Amino acid sequence: MKVGVLALQGAFREHIMSLEALGATAVAVRLPEQLDDCAGLVIPGGESTAISKLMTSYGFYEPIRRRHDEGMAIWGTCAGAILIAKEIVDAVPDQRPLALMDVVVRRNAYGRQVDSFEADIEFDALRDPFRGVFIRAPWIESVGAEVEILASHEGHVVAARQGDSMATAFHPELTGDPRVHRYFLEGVVAG
Ligand code: GLN
Repeated sequence: MKVGVLALQGAFREHIMSLEALGATAVAVRLPEQLDDCAGLVIPGGESTAISKLMTSYGFYEPIRRRHDEGMAIWGTCAGAILIAKEIVDAVPDQRPLALMDVVVRRNAYGRQVDSFEADIEFDALRDPFRGVFIRAPWIESVGAEVEILASHEGHVVAARQGDSMATAFHPELTGDPRVHRYFLEGVVAG
């Protein structure tokens, strides 16, 4: 199974290593043509403003939307979750979401004081808690009727899924725990 990881900025190498450790073929996607044979795409954490600008310069918006319409699964982590949302609260001017999931995401939701932290998260599809690494993370402020909530933390949604789209506010690629990557490959891309 071939899965792309958008490699414009941010934690893409860690995602590639996590996916390959599970036996998938993971490619660093730097040009839109590379999406053509990807069954799934991960948009990593990093800085959503920078990724959004680079996506515009390299012409990624239309091809990602088109491939998603054709069935390419998508997973956004942190900055990636912001970018796949329908609406971003506290976006910077010109920051455009891909609008692939019916969720409203608040950027930098945890504010300055506790901007980075770790917490054990009950993730719906997993039996035991998952260590959530949150780095200047967003949260999912509201979800549409078709969206399934996968995990919440202190009353805020931090992981959700809508068909073949998934968003996590935290960074599973930084934990060494393969379970969320496996869920994406087996449950979302292949599912
Ligand atoms: N705060 C960042 C943003 O707005 C996201 C941080 C992250 O991806 N770890 O894009």
